[in-house]
Amino acid sequence: MNSIETFKETLENFRPLMIELERVLSSIPAIAPESGGDGESKKCAALEKWLCEAGFEKSQIEHYDAPDKRVSSGVRPNVILTIPGKSDDYAIWVMAHMDVVPPGDLKLWKSDPFMVQYDEKTDRLIGRGVEDNQQGLVSGVMAALTLLKNKITPEHTVKLLFMADEEFGSEYGIKYLLRKHPELFSNHDLILIPDGGDEKGETIEVAEKNILWLRIHTIGQQSHGSMPNKGKNAHLAACDLALRLNDLENFFNEKDDLFSPNYSTFQPTKKEANVETVNIIPGDDVFYMDCRILPRYSLDMVRAEINKRVAEIESKYGVKIEISEPQAQQSPATPVDAPVVKKLAAAIKKAHGFEARPIGIGGGTVGAELRCCGFNAAIWSTMDEVCHQPNEYCYVRNIIADAETLCALFTEE
Ligand SMILES: [Zn+2]
Repeated sequence: MNSIETFKETLENFRPLMIELERVLSSIPAIAPESGGDGESKKCAALEKWLCEAGFEKSQIEHYDAPDKRVSSGVRPNVILTIPGKSDDYAIWVMAHMDVVPPGDLKLWKSDPFMVQYDEKTDRLIGRGVEDNQQGLVSGVMAALTLLKNKITPEHTVKLLFMADEEFGSEYGIKYLLRKHPELFSNHDLILIPDGGDEKGETIEVAEKNILWLRIHTIGQQSHGSMPNKGKNAHLAACDLALRLNDLENFFNEKDDLFSPNYSTFQPTKKEANVETVNIIPGDDVFYMDCRILPRYSLDMVRAEINKRVAEIESKYGVKIEISEPQAQQSPATPVDAPVVKKLAAAIKKAHGFEARPIGIGGGTVGAELRCCGFNAAIWSTMDEVCHQPNEYCYVRNIIADAETLCALFTEE
């Protein structure tokens, strides 16, 4: 039997373990204090207990907890399980977060979100967190356990990171680690984040569009609807500005087929209410833009062009415009030929026989945080992406498939 067949057989036998670990993890809601929860400590303790009972040593587990007075344990846990390799020239990281979002409207759930159900007919596990991000967490654990049970030492050191606080911006999770413990990571490491993907597992996310949210407050002068000459119509000026900002799609117009859509988008979205009746010229207007910009354009380039267009509107309508940025995130792309991408693609090919391809996305992940600090990172897994929805599910066969890929990666020279 070659090694891939051994891995497949072991993992198939681990099915009950996968279901059990998912049940344990979902049974302890690790909800952020921002959502009224008590953080990840209890869930983390249950995970550590499970890992030790499964055969890992306590000495393989290290804590890098972030202090947080808002939760009863006083910390947001970040834990690394290390599996020493034949060589420690670089580490292969599998980073998964322990926190989950609240279940939302319970009436929309067909079962208790914190009591995982397994539906044999569809091979689905159903419960809050089973996909986001326990699927990735369990895949990493099962891959490591497969090597342990078969007494195989990985070629390079493997590090499974269980993180806190992904759903609320990672201040107490990956951002804390990058800020306080940068010595944990090296530029040569392969960093995998199994927290996004496609239903076949054939895309490797290497880049994210820069995100810029704008709140645009236009201050004019209110007047009667019949007397626009006596006022300054803030809504009209804002409409003109919305069109000119949307026109940035024609200005920053390069295309990149890594992304879908393959161009930068500048879209007016939310609109705050202004006047109460039809016959008032509004003197005050607030609207928002959601801009998703190809990484080749820096946010400062974009800001400069926005300011030019804002100044045109101010002088044309005699209004004053104030802009704030509820969100601004830019991150470089991981090169499509970076080692993490090539080695992951090779492992996918070895385990499953198909070619995976790099892509970019419009959303934001912790990959952006790592890339900003100079680390290449790939986001990948096999999933339907039903995170944050009621009746969140994951397929056990996807946990197995991704664990097979990880086994192939861990044992590749
Ligand atoms: Zn997630």
